[in-house]
Amino acid sequence: MKILVAVKRVVDYNVRVRVKPDHTAVDTANVKMSMNPFDEIAMEEAVRLREKSIATEIIAVSCGSLQCQDTLRTALALGADRAILLESDEELQPLAVAKLLNFLIAREQPDLILLGKQAIDDDCNQTGQMLSALTGLPQATFASRIDIAGGTATIATTANVVREIDGGQETLCVTLPSIITADLRLNEPRYVTLPNMMRARKKPIEILRVADLGVDVRPHMKTLKVTEPPVRRAGITVPDVAALIDQLKTRQVI
Ligand code: AMP
Repeated sequence: MKILVAVKRVVDYNVRVRVKPDHTAVDTANVKMSMNPFDEIAMEEAVRLREKSIATEIIAVSCGSLQCQDTLRTALALGADRAILLESDEELQPLAVAKLLNFLIAREQPDLILLGKQAIDDDCNQTGQMLSALTGLPQATFASRIDIAGGTATIATTANVVREIDGGQETLCVTLPSIITADLRLNEPRYVTLPNMMRARKKPIEILRVADLGVDVRPHMKTLKVTEPPVRRAGITVPDVAALIDQLKTRQVI
């Protein structure tokens, strides 16, 4: 079974995000960037499927600037066999990424496509769903467990996916090839070790220029303004319940 995993380069989740002074975007200059945490979980799941001899090949793919090669190197160190960068310096919104992944799926014919449930920079939670619509493949989003039926690379035709929904869990059976997006509880990703990072240097990264692919990646949305959340006012101490109620009635909560 061949697995394609989409990994996005995002601002590291430990970084305190700052907005550019002109309010056009988040400032990413000199900021630590990492693989989107949900994509790490998707990668880990692919590696575990290979360890169970269910997956035979794992391909990591990223869409964006040449710097995304760093993210792909991490994916290779985590266990991907090869990586593909769909390279563009233009802003790639979820529909554009879905179209690019659709292009790659037609070329690579994977049996399983794993994505994160959402990217922590745009919080869109759209790419997997749009990809399902474009490819016509079944989707199971927010997966917290994936069981491949049959259990071997040659005869697997379906996957049972447990997903967390309001008030419980839902189990879906999807026919493969299928698109599955990873939720937080799917697994706990392993750390990248130095020897694996060194080995990853020898694995191939193929770079395809988006401009040469004939895929329309023009944005359909324009960001008008990006602002920081309002600063919280300092708390106050009140002497008694009456004063508290008075404050609750009169103080503006932000
Ligand atoms: P989003 O719809 O932007 O919240 O992203 C959902 C998922 O789509 C991510 O967790 C990634 O798996 C994938 N994805 C989004 N943007 C990219 C990108 N530029 N390159 C690779 N994968 C991406």
